[in-house]
Amino acid sequence: MSATLATMIQRVQPDWRIRIYERLGAVAQESSNPWNNAGTGHSALCELNYMPQAADGSVDPAKAISINEQFQLSRQFWSTLVNEGVLGDPKSFINSVPHMTFVRGEHDVEYLRTRYETLKKQPLFDEIEFSEDPKQIAEWVPLMIDKRAKSEKFAATRVAGGTDVDFGSLTKQLFERLIENGAELLLNHEVKGLRKGSDGLWTVRAKHNVGNTTHRVKARFVFVGAGGYALKLLQRSHIPEAKGYGTFPISGQFLRTSNPKIVAKHHAKVYSQAAVGAPPMSVPHLDTRVVDGQASLLFGPYAGANPKFLKHGSVMDLPGSIRGANIVPYLSVAKDNLGLLKYLIGELLTTRAGKFRALQEFAPSARPEDWELIVAGQRAQVIKKDAAKGGVLQFGTEVVAAEDGSIVGLLGASPGASTAVPIMIDVLKRCFPAHYAGWEPTLRGLIPTLGTTLNDQPKQAKKVMAATAETLRLND
Ligand SMILES: Cc1cc2nc3c(=O)[nH]c(=O)nc-3n(C[C@H](O)[C@H](O)[C@H](O)COP(=O)(O)OP(=O)(O)OC[C@H]3O[C@@H](n4cnc5c(N)ncnc54)[C@H](O)[C@@H]3O)c2cc1C
Repeated sequence: MSATLATMIQRVQPDWRIRIYERLGAVAQESSNPWNNAGTGHSALCELNYMPQAADGSVDPAKAISINEQFQLSRQFWSTLVNEGVLGDPKSFINSVPHMTFVRGEHDVEYLRTRYETLKKQPLFDEIEFSEDPKQIAEWVPLMIDKRAKSEKFAATRVAGGTDVDFGSLTKQLFERLIENGAELLLNHEVKGLRKGSDGLWTVRAKHNVGNTTHRVKARFVFVGAGGYALKLLQRSHIPEAKGYGTFPISGQFLRTSNPKIVAKHHAKVYSQAAVGAPPMSVPHLDTRVVDGQASLLFGPYAGANPKFLKHGSVMDLPGSIRGANIVPYLSVAKDNLGLLKYLIGELLTTRAGKFRALQEFAPSARPEDWELIVAGQRAQVIKKDAAKGGVLQFGTEVVAAEDGSIVGLLGASPGASTAVPIMIDVLKRCFPAHYAGWEPTLRGLIPTLGTTLNDQPKQAKKVMAATAETLRLND
């Protein structure tokens, strides 16, 4: 998120000085590290949670369309940077991996068919395919059909033009170019305090984690791009807008294999239905990942309860975030989400064998000796005040900004890194209203369709998707 925002600011206002503080010894070691997230270029091609079924059986494509529109902006931004040589070979950070949905049982097959029929009419989704034919699905994803019981009823949809993104590689490349162009990156520096002076400037206090020395700098604008620690820092800034927010951390694990024989039998990101009580981002999926040019398969995530807000965080993160202003939202969320708590505790208690059985529902022929369990990143979900309920748990992202726009932070993790580009455009609009109109032409140079939507312009949608696919080498 910080790398994306800094890249945009360096472009629209090259005379501004940018300094980035990172508490760890390298960038992209938390959520944006490729092994800490699933790398799905979220565009609602396969994730059912963006298009749930209403009680009457109908489905509404509006949310799915808006997620896809957001990803088109990210694709355009990355394409421009590739064309300019800012980003290297696109294969180093984005690869074409079909996005599929796989469901079992009469009810879910009907839901998937309805979803397919609805999406097929939308220009951004018109390449979607549906099949109930085991032979066809076996051609798409042999690993999922191998040794599957003949009696099972199942169906799948597929969009060939899905993507797998290595957000860690993208982050590193963006930072390299930012530094070449004059931005400063201070590694091993943890921001501890944020205070606004009477001069209207923020004093950022950071501690050097190696020598324990304190470092202070004055800034006109602060972006709190601290991932799971964003709430902690926003609380320390004492801005009233951050009051009432809380963070609910959900940990994640994946099973991974890089056995080439198994990897060769699956080339897709296949999402399915979430278990009862499971949060939307805990939908199980079996994914092709491409990291450092190597393909592997990832299955999960297995969610769990863990009070840390970052993978390299502290068990005191959750208790330390409780304030008078957010205790009601925290308690209300605990009271109203017993199903989720039960689900998380259940996941924690699931043995390795239990975890493996979940994988075998996707890949019946999977053998434990081929798969290793890896720990993914922490997802810090947003808890916010709610007039009716006291507090609600939200699974999206939330931009929290001071009224004067001098400080802004990003809470939440979904749809996550895929939508860094539209979210940071929103940050620019909200925090720099006096500059934004002047910056727009430059931003449009980076993202040609900025400010318009594609789904209502079928010809333009085709043209833009074809152009970004070409530049990002997604047709290779
Ligand atoms: C299990 C899992 C699966 C996911 N899957 C996907 C997916 O498939 N697709 C997708 O698009 N998104 C996915 N996401 C979400 C995505 O990873 C995040 O939204 C995104 O990486 C967040 O980027 P960020 O820059 O905000 O945070 P991060 O990448 O976490 O970066 C924050 C940085 O701030 C540093 N920091 C924190 N506090 C301080 C401080 N006080 N001082 C200095 N530095 C500090 C941290 O060390 C870290 O480097 C997933 C996340 C998880 C956990």
